[in-house]
Amino acid sequence: MSDLYFKSTRGSNEKVQSSQAIVNGIAEDGGLYIPEFLPKIGKPLSYLKEMNYDELAFHIMKKFFTDFEDLVLQECIKKAYDSKFGDPAIVPLIEKGGAYFLELYHGPTLAFKDMALSILPHLLRAACIKIDIDEEIVILTATSGDTGKAALEGFSDVEGTKIVVFYPRDGVSQIQERQMITQEGSNTYAIAIEGNFDDAQKGVKEIFNDKNFNKILRNNNYIFSSANSINIGRLVPQIVYYIYSYLNLSKLGKISKNERINIVVPTGNFGNILAAYYAKKMGLPVNKLICASNENNVLYDFINTGIYDKKRKLKATSSPSMDILVSSNLERLLYDLCENDTGVVKSLIEKLNKRGEYRITPNMKHKLKDFYGGFATDNEVSETIRDVYKSFNYLIDPHTAVAYNVYQKYIRDTKDTTKTIIASTASPFKFPNSVMKAVDDKFSNYDDFALLEKIAKISNCSIPKSLKDIDKRKILHNTVCKREDMKSIISRILKI
Ligand SMILES: *Cc1c(COP(=O)(O)O)cnc(C)c1O
Repeated sequence: MSDLYFKSTRGSNEKVQSSQAIVNGIAEDGGLYIPEFLPKIGKPLSYLKEMNYDELAFHIMKKFFTDFEDLVLQECIKKAYDSKFGDPAIVPLIEKGGAYFLELYHGPTLAFKDMALSILPHLLRAACIKIDIDEEIVILTATSGDTGKAALEGFSDVEGTKIVVFYPRDGVSQIQERQMITQEGSNTYAIAIEGNFDDAQKGVKEIFNDKNFNKILRNNNYIFSSANSINIGRLVPQIVYYIYSYLNLSKLGKISKNERINIVVPTGNFGNILAAYYAKKMGLPVNKLICASNENNVLYDFINTGIYDKKRKLKATSSPSMDILVSSNLERLLYDLCENDTGVVKSLIEKLNKRGEYRITPNMKHKLKDFYGGFATDNEVSETIRDVYKSFNYLIDPHTAVAYNVYQKYIRDTKDTTKTIIASTASPFKFPNSVMKAVDDKFSNYDDFALLEKIAKISNCSIPKSLKDIDKRKILHNTVCKREDMKSIISRILKI
């Protein structure tokens, strides 16, 4: 198989193979790594249909990670998608309400981020061995909830790594906080910041860019890395489940040969939907990619007007993992829209940084026709959760409800009857308050832990083992710090 190289969306001459791209995370000119060409799925779908999840994952990932040895990559996959997943199907597909819900949340932290973060640590570790990095890797992450826990869980006790997660003390849900502060693993650190998510994020960025501090780190045999969703080690594993679920539909006789499907994705940083778009470009028969936003509807505006405008106030919604104003992975789509003209990408991103907005050309806008953009308000999300429960006896979380609501708007707009997959990105057990309040107002005053039992009862599912008795588990992390003390906390952890 020929080697695939990765280069930057912003045009530097750097060219690296996947292991280096995974270790670096971001290109040297600040751009995102993109493959020099997008591989094709290759084998006929009828052949791939017989593969289990691990086999298909290997077939797809190997096309990108050409410098990984087969056995090493297979081992990474095996360690990632094992009994940590609460459903042997890994990504079950559930037919309800005229659509297929692709449940991506059966991993250890009950959000779709597990699909990528349970494999990234193993890829990173293998990449370090491959390119002779001796230093211990220190992963630094700021989180508004889901990423932090998924990263802690993924890196927990992975040899040669430490993981430090900063979260806003008053900015995550009760369940999310408890998931983090009960995290096991001798190399894990969850730290609360007095401030909001932006404070945590800014602090982490400053530490990453602090040359002096990085030097001290290196002298002590450590290097920083991030588990950010722009890492190709997170993006590529996400392509797999779209192809897998298409094959599943075909196997079940729900679609005919090469029939096209729609995919709806509740979107924040544009990572998950970009993976679906890459699957389409690799040859998966996909009709529309439906990009669903919450009230922070920057992407809805972008898709409909061609103007990306971040100059607005961030709203805290019931789907917090999508409360984002700058969708980093969109840069990779821009690269395609302008026909790989890195100069254009660079100037658009510069405009965004300087003026807070940019506008794409009519030609680029025309290429967006594969996408449909919609958004749902918090009220609509609540109604959707209630309607889906009452009509189909199926409980969905607020992020998935954003997707389903936008799907309904899409059908109303277009009368399209194409079969459709909805990416279900979180378990309803992860957002007990929003979910149960939507079902019945009487649950408004319950706390999250009490509501877990209620959810189990009305959904006929048992409480996932990762949340069972979580309120009784030992609290293992209790550090709270001010933003300006983040660096000294890290020094203390690393004893440097
Ligand atoms: C992160 C997340 C999203 C958004 O995914 P992106 O790849 O950032 O677009 C949606 N839903 C849930 C539950 C998430 O955790």
